[in-house]
Amino acid sequence: MLTNAPKGTKDVLPAQVYKWHFVEQAFAEICAKYGFQEIRTPVFEHTELFARGVGDTTDIVQKEMYTFQDYGKRSITLKPEGTSPVARAFVEHKAYADVQPSKYYYNTPCFRYEKPQSGRLRAFHQFGIEVFGTNDMIADAEVICLAYDFLQNLGIKNVELQINSVGCPECRQAHRKALRDFLRPKYDELCDTCKDRYERNPLRIMDCKSEICQELVKGAPLMIDFLCDDCRKAFDDLKQNLTSMGIAFTVNPGIVRGLDYYTKTAFEFVTTSIGAQGTVCGGGRYDHLMEELGGPPIPGVGFGLGIERLLLTMEANGIQIPEPDAVDVFIAVMGDKAKAFGLKLLRQLRQEGLRAEMDSMARNIKGQFKYANRIGAKKTVVIGENELAEQKVAIKDMETSTQTQVAMDDMIKELIK
Ligand code: ATP
Ligand code: MG
Repeated sequence: MLTNAPKGTKDVLPAQVYKWHFVEQAFAEICAKYGFQEIRTPVFEHTELFARGVGDTTDIVQKEMYTFQDYGKRSITLKPEGTSPVARAFVEHKAYADVQPSKYYYNTPCFRYEKPQSGRLRAFHQFGIEVFGTNDMIADAEVICLAYDFLQNLGIKNVELQINSVGCPECRQAHRKALRDFLRPKYDELCDTCKDRYERNPLRIMDCKSEICQELVKGAPLMIDFLCDDCRKAFDDLKQNLTSMGIAFTVNPGIVRGLDYYTKTAFEFVTTSIGAQGTVCGGGRYDHLMEELGGPPIPGVGFGLGIERLLLTMEANGIQIPEPDAVDVFIAVMGDKAKAFGLKLLRQLRQEGLRAEMDSMARNIKGQFKYANRIGAKKTVVIGENELAEQKVAIKDMETSTQTQVAMDDMIKELIK
């Protein structure tokens, strides 16, 4: 028990962490190129930030949140998603007073009490971006374009961009009525969760993971057919902008997204290469979130991208992430004097920017060479009493097994080379 991580969590061990560094750096670089700045928000927030009222009908808010009371009797929730905290910070720090739009990116852990399976964890990680302050579909297209280019640059091939519009509170009313009319005769067959959704937000039934419900909603009226003029024009603009940017997409009227606060644009990047949990990235527009939080009526658009699912997808695509060299120089020493000299040299080499290592397990010289091989040292420098007396050292190239004698004074220069 004590030595088992909780269900649905995963350690990233040193042998794998370079993959994380690689995608993290790639994401930071593309965000910088697109003019997004990093924001970091706390791992926990007031529960009300996520559960904003009785209207909430999402899985996340209804049954997936890690919520607890702290010693001050406040209800606290580990963040299940990245958008609300960024919106909260934006309002709290009055960032809307600056020149707009505001463009943020983040890399955050998320926590959801879900049924763990491949690509679905309880503690996972997301990259995300948000653009606040503009209604223009240029922003939506840019957000989608960033995700598209990010995935493309990483070499991911079999991923499809699907877009939809989920309308606005006005046009959703007519759709909601049509959807209820359609589902009324099937009401008794819906799962318990969807019976509740039927009353509160029937659109969410479209996103139910139960096969029975999926069957029942086949042929249901689609939101996309109920868009008001404003939402229809926005959707047309989005498609036009994506086309102008050369981005291929398909319209999938079934996309509703996992959170209630979405309006107009909804999109997903879906891959078939990692099984059932194929949505690598999902996002859309949320024009009323900021107001719901008690802030000014400022629109927003963004996405969340699951890092674990991204890495699974890259693996399924056979994409090799370059493994960094572990060790440049190993210092093999014989005798106490050599050890003292070696320690000094170890520090010097590191200050010169080299990854240098020395034995700390009291190995004999044969053991030290074996160890140097194990840790993948590119070169080994051998220092013993003789070498110190003659002010000469042997540098062994571990790959070619060739050895060169150099004067002590030239050693550092030689090693850096
Ligand atoms: P799903 O339909 O798969 O449950 P979602 O709609 O709940 O996804 P979002 O809230 O949009 O997902 O989160 C954005 C991204 O975060 C997803 O596209 C996915 O890549 C990732 N993600 C979501 N939930 C998990 C999880 N439990 N474990 C790992 N990654 C996740
Ligand atoms: Mg989910």
